[in-house]
Amino acid sequence: MNTKTVGRNDPCPCGSGLQYKRCCREKDRAEQSARDRARSIAERERQEAARQAAREALDESYALDSASNAVIDLVHAGKLDQAEQAARALLEQYPEVPDGHERLAMVYEARGDQRQAGECYGKVIEMIRSRPGEFDPEYERYLLEKLEQAAAAN
Ligand SMILES: [Zn+2]
Repeated sequence: MNTKTVGRNDPCPCGSGLQYKRCCREKDRAEQSARDRARSIAERERQEAARQAAREALDESYALDSASNAVIDLVHAGKLDQAEQAARALLEQYPEVPDGHERLAMVYEARGDQRQAGECYGKVIEMIRSRPGEFDPEYERYLLEKLEQAAAAN
């Protein structure tokens, strides 16, 4: 029962014939504040879960960046077999992001294997085109350029 719409001195809505303040008012008030408490606890829990999810997503994105950068470092260090392993691990662990294919393409480029590099860039392009609006158009232009470079070198 809503305690705000019934006046203190009004007849109690329960039909007892007593004034509201002499009858159900206190019980209704207690029920209302229990509902308010439950709502605010639920709201706090929801907010905490959202914060936790945001923290985890951020941690995961740092882990991804770090794994992705590690492949670049290995390529630059000339450790191409290790770089390929790391790129394939990236691909396996984060299949929903372009990094694995893109890093694998870098490894193939470093080996002078433009055909396979082109295939990897093609896969990234396919991925980003299948999810319109999610990626920067500049990124697609960059990938197309890499794909053309790879095709020209064949
Ligand atoms: Zn009553």
